[in-house]
Amino acid sequence: MAKRCTKCHRLKPDSEYRHRSGRTTAWCKWCHNQYTQSRRHLYNGKDLGPPEGCVTENQWLDLCAHYAPNGICPACGETGKLTMDHIVPHSKGGTNYIDNLQPLCLRCNSQKQDKETDFRPDGGEFAKSLRARGW
Ligand SMILES: [Zn+2]
Ligand SMILES: [Zn+2]
Repeated sequence: MAKRCTKCHRLKPDSEYRHRSGRTTAWCKWCHNQYTQSRRHLYNGKDLGPPEGCVTENQWLDLCAHYAPNGICPACGETGKLTMDHIVPHSKGGTNYIDNLQPLCLRCNSQKQDKETDFRPDGGEFAKSLRARGW
């Protein structure tokens, strides 16, 4: 079963949607995540406002293919579920643009915490070119 997301209008399989009381949500997981990230953030009780920027799913997939080919985490070299890491955290003024993101496995992402470690071997050159392309 596949259905079209009412936000990004992509046709996606059921597994790309969250399930709520037996039904799939109208927005795909990707759109929900983007929405959550674009909302206001509280940090230590301070209202940071929403982060600047947004990223498309195509940009993210290209980023993963470049920095984490075959699902290999660029930090530890092991395959694992890739998660989106903000190199400069939002709490330190980091944006939500593709050139502030890197794919890290769940373990490395949680170990990194608030540190601004850049695991991209090219220092983000490829990510910048993705952002310049604009989609
Ligand atoms: Zn969507
Ligand atoms: Zn890792």
